Amino acid sequence: MDNAISIQSASKTFHVGGNTVAALSDVNLEIEQGAFVSLLGPSGCGKSTLLRVIGDLINPDEGGSVAVLGKPAKKARQDRDYGMVFQQPGLMDWRTVQKNVELPLQVAGVGATERAARAKELLSLVRLDGFENHRPRQLSGGMQQRAAIARALSFEPKILLMDEPLGALDEMNREYLQRELLRIWRETGTTIVFVTHSVSEATFLSTDVVVMSPRPGRIAERIQIDLPYPRVDETRNSEAFHRAETEVREALHSVLEPTTAGV
Ligand code: ADP
Ligand code: MG
Repeated sequence: MDNAISIQSASKTFHVGGNTVAALSDVNLEIEQGAFVSLLGPSGCGKSTLLRVIGDLINPDEGGSVAVLGKPAKKARQDRDYGMVFQQPGLMDWRTVQKNVELPLQVAGVGATERAARAKELLSLVRLDGFENHRPRQLSGGMQQRAAIARALSFEPKILLMDEPLGALDEMNREYLQRELLRIWRETGTTIVFVTHSVSEATFLSTDVVVMSPRPGRIAERIQIDLPYPRVDETRNSEAFHRAETEVREALHSVLEPTTAGV
C-alpha cells in the first residue's frame, strides 16, 4: 500500500524584494495511511509552509517532490483527496451553517438534494444537529470550527490537513475538540496532518510527532506516541502520557537551544 504522503528532499525558499527566506530545508517525511501526525515547532519554523507544500498550495523548490497516495500532490488535489482546516473557520455569515457545509459540493456541481443530505450527515458527525439553519455568528468559536471540519470532510477526503485548527479556542473547548477530532479521525479513517505549537496537544492527539527546527525548517526528530486509543481525559493524567509529553518537550527544547544560546 502506498504511503499517504511521501516527501523527498523538499526545500522552500521565498523571495521577498531582494531578500530570500529559507523556510524549509531538505525535508524528507513518510506518513502512513491512517496516521495522525503532528508538525510541532516554534512560530516561523516552516510548519504552515510544509503543510502547504503537502496540500499543493505551493510548490517545493526544484529537486523536491511530494507524492500523495502514490501520485503527485497536484493530482491528489484535483482528485479532492484533501480537506483543509485553518485556525479561522472562514465561514460565510450570509449563508446558514448547512449552506456553508454544502458550498464545496455546490461549487463542484452536486445537486441540491444530494448535497443537503450529505451536509446533514456531516453536521451530525461533528454533533451540530439542530444548528443547520443557524448563522455562523450565532455559534460559539468551537462550534464554528466543528462546522469548518464538516465542510472540509464534504468530499470524504483521504487526507485532512489542519493548520492550528484549535489555536483560537479557550482551554476547555480545545480539550473537548481534541477528543472530538480523535473520534472523527477514527470514524472516518482519514490520515491527519496537524500543525500545532502545543506539546501537550501534539502528544495527546498523535500517532507520531514530527519536531521541526527553526529556520530553515528541518525535521529534527520524529517521536512515536505509544499511547493506546481511544485517548480520553484520564489519558492526560497517566504516567505514560507524562513520559511521552516529556520526551516531546525535550526534543523541542533541544532544537531551540542552539538559537537561543547566543541571545
Ligand atoms: P510557521 O507556520 O511554523 O509559523 P511558516 O511556514 O508560516 O511558519 O513560515 C516559515 C518562514 O517562511 C517564516 O520566516 C515566514 O516569514 C516565511 N514565509 C512563509 N510564507 C511566506 C511567503 N508567502 N512569502 C515570504 N515568506 C514567507
Ligand atoms: Mg503557521
